[in-house]
Amino acid sequence: MHEFDTHTTFRSHAPGYWPAEAMEQWHDHRWQLRNRIDSLADLEAKLVLSDEERAGVLLAGTKLAMAITPHFFNLIDRENPDCPIRRQVIPRIEEGWNAPEEMADPCGEDHHMPVPGLVHRYPDRVLFLVTDRCASYCRYCTRSRVVSGVGEQQLETHWEAAFRYLETHTEIRDVLLSGGDPLLFSDAKLDRILSRLRSIPHLQFLRIGSRIPIFLPQRITPELCDMLKKHHPLFISIHTNHPRELTLEVRDALARLADAGIPLGNQSVMLRGINDSVEVQKALVHKLLMCRVKPYYIYQCDLIHGSSHLRTPVASGIEIIEGLRGHTTGYAIPQFVIDGPGGGGKIPLNPNYVIDSSPSHVTLRNFEGNLFEYPNPSPIQPDDLLSLRHRALAKAR
Ligand SMILES: *Cc1c(COP(=O)(O)O)cnc(C)c1O
Repeated sequence: MHEFDTHTTFRSHAPGYWPAEAMEQWHDHRWQLRNRIDSLADLEAKLVLSDEERAGVLLAGTKLAMAITPHFFNLIDRENPDCPIRRQVIPRIEEGWNAPEEMADPCGEDHHMPVPGLVHRYPDRVLFLVTDRCASYCRYCTRSRVVSGVGEQQLETHWEAAFRYLETHTEIRDVLLSGGDPLLFSDAKLDRILSRLRSIPHLQFLRIGSRIPIFLPQRITPELCDMLKKHHPLFISIHTNHPRELTLEVRDALARLADAGIPLGNQSVMLRGINDSVEVQKALVHKLLMCRVKPYYIYQCDLIHGSSHLRTPVASGIEIIEGLRGHTTGYAIPQFVIDGPGGGGKIPLNPNYVIDSSPSHVTLRNFEGNLFEYPNPSPIQPDDLLSLRHRALAKAR
C-alpha cells in the first residue's frame, strides 16, 4: 500500500477517460493545468459522486474553487468513498457550514500586513504572498478567503511597496514566498522575483512554500531547478499529507530539487480520517526521508470556515508525535504546531515527558514508559576544592 508506484499515469484508467492526446501530453505541465478537473460536469464524467459531494461542488464555486490536476486526480481510489486523496480535493456539503469557532482569517494574517501581500508576524522573517492561484485546491486551505479568486476577498500584492519594505527593514533576514503557489509562475518571472530579493544584502535565507511537487510534479523541470539553484541558500517546503501522494513521478521531481542542492521540508496538516493515525503518519515520514525530505511541521488544522468535518482533536497530534518519537528515526519526526487562533503564530505542542521536577532533579519518562531521574548539577563543596588544591600543590613541588 505504501510502496512508490506509478498509478498516476493515464494508463491506469480506461481509454476515453482522458482525451486522446493525454498519451503524449501527460508529462507536460501545461497540459496538466489546461486539463484540470474544475467543473461538476468534468468530475461527474469521471467519478460517481455522493449527494454530499455534488452539493459541495456546487457550493464551492463562490467560496474556494475546485481544481484537480489529472496527475493528482488519478490517485483517487474510485472504489473507496473515503479515499484520503479524494477527501483533500473534492468539496463536500459540510464546507458550507461554519462552526462557531471558525474564522475567515484564522491566523490573523490580514492584521499583520504592513504592506498588502506581506505578512510580518515574527521579528526576523516575513511571509510574502505572491499569488492567489494553485495547481489544485486543498479543501481545508488556511487562506481560502483569498486563494483561487472566487471568494469575496481578493489577494492584493503591492510588489514595489513590498520590496521597499524589505529593503528598509534590515531586521528581516528570511523571506518565505507563498500564496497560492509560487511555482505556478514561469521560470522567468520567478527568477526576476528571486533576483530582486537577492539584491537585498540583509536577506540571508529564502524559502518557497509549494504543493506543486505533489500536485504537478511535471512542473519541476531541469530548467526550473537550474534557475532556482542560482539563488541559494534557498529551501523549499512542500505539503503532503498521505503516503499515497508520494508516487514515482513525485519522487523523481523531489530528487531533481534535492540534486539542485535545495533542502526540502514537508508540512502536513492533521486531517480527520485522512492522516490522523500513527500508522499513516509513520508511512508518510518514512517515504519522505526516502525522497530526501525532512518532515518539518505537522499542523493542527486551522479554524478556517467550513473545516469542522476535516479537523481533529488536538490530542490526536500529540499521540502521533508520541507514536513516532523513539520509535523511529529522529530526522523523521516533525514538530506538531498550532497556529494561535487570531494571530498567535506557531505554537509547538509536545507529549509531556517530564513527570515531576524539583530544584534537585527531574523525573522523566522515556518512549517505552520507563521512568528515569536526571539530577541537576550538585554544588562543589568548598572542602573538596581545598583538598584538590593541596594535591595540585603537592604535585607542583
Ligand atoms: C509560518 C510562518 C512563517 C515561517 O515560520 P517558521 O517557523 O520559520 O517556518 C513566517 N511568517 C508567517 C506569517 C508564518 O505563518
